[in-house]
Amino acid sequence: MNGKTVMACIDAAHATLVANTDEIALLDQQIGDGDHIFNLLRGMEALTATRAQIEGVALGPALDVAAMKILSTVGGSSGPLFFSLLNGMAKASAHNAMDVAGFASIFAAGVDAVGQRGKTGIGSKTMMDVLIPVARRFEEMASAGATAAEVLDTLPRVAEESMLATRDMLATKGRASFLGERSRGHIDPGARSSQLMIAAVCGWLVQSN
Ligand code: ADP
Ligand code: MG
Repeated sequence: MNGKTVMACIDAAHATLVANTDEIALLDQQIGDGDHIFNLLRGMEALTATRAQIEGVALGPALDVAAMKILSTVGGSSGPLFFSLLNGMAKASAHNAMDVAGFASIFAAGVDAVGQRGKTGIGSKTMMDVLIPVARRFEEMASAGATAAEVLDTLPRVAEESMLATRDMLATKGRASFLGERSRGHIDPGARSSQLMIAAVCGWLVQSN
């Protein structure tokens, strides 16, 4: 795992966002202001333009470069939140092994940082409703001694179930909360984009191993 791996994961995440642009745009039109996917795509394009810098360094510094780039290019609520995810992971990568347990803690640290930044846990109908269950399952599987292959097979399924569960939730954070009860019946756009990126990254890691 190094900067090249980070960039390959970014490429996989970027491709799935491009492929699902219309759907995510529609979700944010229904319960937000419609900009979520365009915020993310702007960030992905900026990361692509930083390819050489990301690919040329180790895992932690690569995550750091990506975090700073996201902070300076992605607007909306999601810019600072994805910055926190990558920055939290970058910090944790300095003191964790490059194995299943190490990556579980690195991811969990990133998700914790998002929670602190957005002051949100589970149940508010946000990206946290995908990120937290995935981070928890990852850590549970790691402590039970699961292999990378088992983890990469399971996490996309946890992400998908969790994303679908946001449909019936009442939004209590972000723009969607302004809709109150009318926020129910729509999947949260940040939950959908996070789930798609998790699935794409896991899929890439499976086929690259
Ligand atoms: P904005 O709402 O400012 O237009 P985006 O459209 O880029 O920002 O992102 C909206 C997504 O951000 C939501 O779908 C939700 O998943 C996520 N979100 C909003 N507020 C929070 C928060 N406090 N914590 C975690 N995620 C949040
Ligand atoms: Mg928005």
